Amino acid sequence: MAAERHDTIVVGAGILGLAVAREILSRRPAERVLVVEREAGPAAHQSARNSGVIHGGIYYPPGSLKARLCVEGAARMYAYCEAKALDARRIGKLIVALRPDELPALDALEQRAHANGVAGVQRLDADGLRAVEPHATGIAALHAPGTGIVDFGAVCRRLAADVAAAGGELRCNWPVTHVTASDRAIALSSSAGRAVQATRAIFCAGLWSDRLATLAGADPDPRIVPFRGAYLQLRPERRALVRGLIYPVPDPHLPFLGIHLTPTTNGSVLVGPSALLAGARDAYRLTTIRAADLRDTALWPGTWRMARRWWRTGLAEARLAALPAAFAAAAARYVPELRAEDFEPAFAGVRAQAVSRDGRLVDDFLLSTTPRAIHVRNAPSPAATSALALAELIAEQADQVLR
Ligand SMILES: Cc1cc2nc3c(=O)[nH]c(=O)nc-3n(C[C@H](O)[C@H](O)[C@H](O)COP(=O)(O)OP(=O)(O)OC[C@H]3O[C@@H](n4cnc5c(N)ncnc54)[C@H](O)[C@@H]3O)c2cc1C
Repeated sequence: MAAERHDTIVVGAGILGLAVAREILSRRPAERVLVVEREAGPAAHQSARNSGVIHGGIYYPPGSLKARLCVEGAARMYAYCEAKALDARRIGKLIVALRPDELPALDALEQRAHANGVAGVQRLDADGLRAVEPHATGIAALHAPGTGIVDFGAVCRRLAADVAAAGGELRCNWPVTHVTASDRAIALSSSAGRAVQATRAIFCAGLWSDRLATLAGADPDPRIVPFRGAYLQLRPERRALVRGLIYPVPDPHLPFLGIHLTPTTNGSVLVGPSALLAGARDAYRLTTIRAADLRDTALWPGTWRMARRWWRTGLAEARLAALPAAFAAAAARYVPELRAEDFEPAFAGVRAQAVSRDGRLVDDFLLSTTPRAIHVRNAPSPAATSALALAELIAEQADQVLR
């Protein structure tokens, strides 16, 4: 049976895949665009299981894709939400130093914020930080008033509606299982039905992006190593203790930002996420373990090199995951009125973190190509914030290399 023909196929209906499909259709309204998704609907993984923070662009090395696309992407995300009447609020963020030995890292973040062009970032002393967050404590802070919150799952549903309105098709329950490319076309097959073919394909497959890239003939380096991030939330009667976003000073060598307090647009206050090596790429329950995922993580030389370097951090994270009281205590260091009984379990997400063969946690966004295809190989936080800007970059690259 002949394969069904399209111009562009996007794999994955997370925020990136949907933003890419929308961007392509806005550039070329006549293009036949198909988005295929393995799950029953859009945003089934990272894009709806996250902190919901529109990041400002403070943390990332100047000149990196993250730095540029986060600043641009945040501005575009706010504008998009305003245009579509989605709830996005600039509630502001504090990055709080508790101890003098954290001040050099806070200084470095302040310099980065300025170098990256993040608007309005200010240094505060202990009194200044309490004026912003009356129940928080610390010796100094950076205040980023433009950082905000949104429900990225709702953004995805809106993007999916835009894609449909522009003539694109979203096909769910369609897991890609094989990829074949020739000079002129790329064909994707699925256990779910007839193969599809296009001039080009763009893979935005999140936690499974390395597997799809490898199916298409790419280098297996880097591999996705899943890190589970579990959240607690504050009991409703204690939410008033937190006004905006409260973050620790992160370890500059790690891509994770540490346990933070995050008000959400639905009125709750999240606490987390933890960062624990997961037994499955969809380990939303701690007990979910999949042999193939475990094997992929365990057989990757980079996992062991990473573990040798970060075993202390890994043990500390395992303790947080095992002991809710320790998790609660980590947050209470920033808001001392919080007690263990003020927290209740919330949900978990799993981060798709690319780890290179030499054990490096790949920091920046990473794209690669195979014949007739572009692959997003690393799109961890702040990729949801950056989605609209990253989609533009991907669509431009697709136009240049895949005509
Ligand atoms: C705990 C946590 C907190 C975070 N907090 C923030 C935050 O506050 N702010 C922020 O900007 N970012 C945050 N992020 C990062 C952000 O969520 C991700 O960077 C972003 O959602 C990545 O989007 P994506 O479309 O690449 O991936 P995903 O949303 O994971 O989408 C990939 C899609 O591809 C599909 N797929 C995979 N394999 C196949 C296949 N074979 N065939 C068909 N479809 C397939 C999947 O089902 C999935 O729907 C956080 C992430 C996590 C996990």
